[in-house]
Amino acid sequence: MSIYIIKAKKIITVSKKGTIDHGAMVVQNGKIMNISTWEKINQKYHQVPLLDYSDYIICPSLVDCHTHLLEFGPPSQFPITQETHLLAGKAILLNTLCAGITALGEQVCGNPICDLRVSELKRAAQDIPMDISFAASILSLGFKRLIHFTAVTGSTPVPREVLVSKEVLETLASENEYAGENIFINATPGNFLESEVPNAGELIYSQQELEYIVSIFHEQGQQIGAHAAGEPGIQMALEAGFDVLHHAHGITDSQIEKAARQKTQVVATPLGGTHLKPNTFAEIMKMVNAQISVSISTDAFLPPYEKNAVALQNDRKTLMGPEALMAIANPYMKGMLEYGYSENEALALITRNPAKVLGKETQFGSLEAGKEANFLIAEGTPGIEIVNPNKIKAVYFRGEKVVSRL
Ligand SMILES: [Zn+2]
Repeated sequence: MSIYIIKAKKIITVSKKGTIDHGAMVVQNGKIMNISTWEKINQKYHQVPLLDYSDYIICPSLVDCHTHLLEFGPPSQFPITQETHLLAGKAILLNTLCAGITALGEQVCGNPICDLRVSELKRAAQDIPMDISFAASILSLGFKRLIHFTAVTGSTPVPREVLVSKEVLETLASENEYAGENIFINATPGNFLESEVPNAGELIYSQQELEYIVSIFHEQGQQIGAHAAGEPGIQMALEAGFDVLHHAHGITDSQIEKAARQKTQVVATPLGGTHLKPNTFAEIMKMVNAQISVSISTDAFLPPYEKNAVALQNDRKTLMGPEALMAIANPYMKGMLEYGYSENEALALITRNPAKVLGKETQFGSLEAGKEANFLIAEGTPGIEIVNPNKIKAVYFRGEKVVSRL
């Protein structure tokens, strides 16, 4: 079926068109050809097959722009060996797709267990009906003795000086596909116990080094993002001109203003991921009010931050994956509605804004003529009315139905 019309009770476009009640889309060759009210579409198109989902809503499929599913995910989810590492990665991707996510921003940091490069992970994922962008990264872990890995040196830890080597940075920039967590300005606790990572939060680079790293990426026409938390680390990132701040836990009011002026994007990770507490609802709202493009991401797999105010559906102490995206975004999205924002603006936190982080906002993340037909059929608005992936009845990727619970 290379052309079809699909209609629903309402379409949340996350575009200038906002929500279209009794809306319909014409999909041809994987792209949206027209989107309007059913009345107008019905008048204009004849003898085009119709898919009628009048009991459901349609919205863009979800985007999780900060994940670690292929490198660190597999051994955390399955008792695998090197031989079955990528198979486990694919199982995780299928599960992600079933949760309504059709685009990911994956970090490649250099995994101590499995020696995989960006190119190998790309090849492994190429048959998955999903758009995956890879960030080539340098990981710094806050053990008693700091340990660093890079996406271009694989599973062997590297000494500190390698992190600012011109050759390594140029290779990273050339393999990099988007402004992910490219470097860790502060050492991360990872998923280790507090006692195991006493140096989590430690600043890794000087201001001069950060400016040098940014210049190498920008010279190659690459945007660059950083893991940053706490006032000093965030200040350094803002002054060095990073395009995207990942986490930004502990961002101050004046830093929010500076980020807004510079058009720095923020990827918020309510499950945790740094040495500090995740941002509160009030902090996220300050960023949204300042018109910073804020995305919510799982940073999967993470254990939920224990003292997190986020009201998760269950009290799982286990690691949480991308299937939790709607649940973790829920308090922020509902809060936005209470502050007078529309459901389109709230849904942008897990669709259009993360698509922008990936540099692919002209391709997907909202439903508009000319964009890829990546969308969901759901019982309600994801992250607002529904948080359980089972309430997503179908997932479409480039016009093809790839998940069906109908
Ligand atoms: Zn991360």
